[in-house]
Amino acid sequence: FPQDIVELVQSHIREVNDFPAPGVLFQDVTPLIADPVAFKALIDILADRYRGKVDAVAGLESRGFILGAPLAVALGVGMLTVRKAGRLPGPVVGIDYDLEYGSARMELQPFTVNDGDRVLVIDDVLATGGTANAAFELIEAAGGHADTLCVLMEIGALGGRERLAGRTVDAVLTY
Ligand code: AMP
Repeated sequence: FPQDIVELVQSHIREVNDFPAPGVLFQDVTPLIADPVAFKALIDILADRYRGKVDAVAGLESRGFILGAPLAVALGVGMLTVRKAGRLPGPVVGIDYDLEYGSARMELQPFTVNDGDRVLVIDDVLATGGTANAAFELIEAAGGHADTLCVLMEIGALGGRERLAGRTVDAVLTY
């Protein structure tokens, strides 16, 4: 990514210690989306990067929705929502995956994915990669092609990039 977007994101992310649980260094992107100039600049740069390369954008609940929706509009493509279990009316495809402690389930309405569409997955932060990996599998189960994840921040030590081996991970910042 160009240096201007790296600096833009870096200067608008808050690092919060021990949130939402002790030992977690939370990467808070709300200052970025609260700043109209920074938010627009981010979406413009992302749109330039992916224009013509994707047929849909899939946001991961919930901060991926905030980033994905304006990007989808800027690209002139549709917006898909990959959501936590029980939020979407059926039919849905779902997948369970392991978290550091416990497990989680993500779901997608397969009828929102057009056969063969190239789907860009977007979220704010890549941590262990479990959520993004679930999204890739759901999109593929629904007939789409998903091979790229875009995140503002990658927490390198948690191994998300390794878990997503074979996919492209575009991270504006790596921590
Ligand atoms: P994971 O499935 O472990 O890659 O977790 C990714 C999801 O959890 C993303 O939707 C992030 O928004 C959120 N997340 C995980 N760790 C953090 C963190 N340190 N700061 C902010 N968000 C996080």
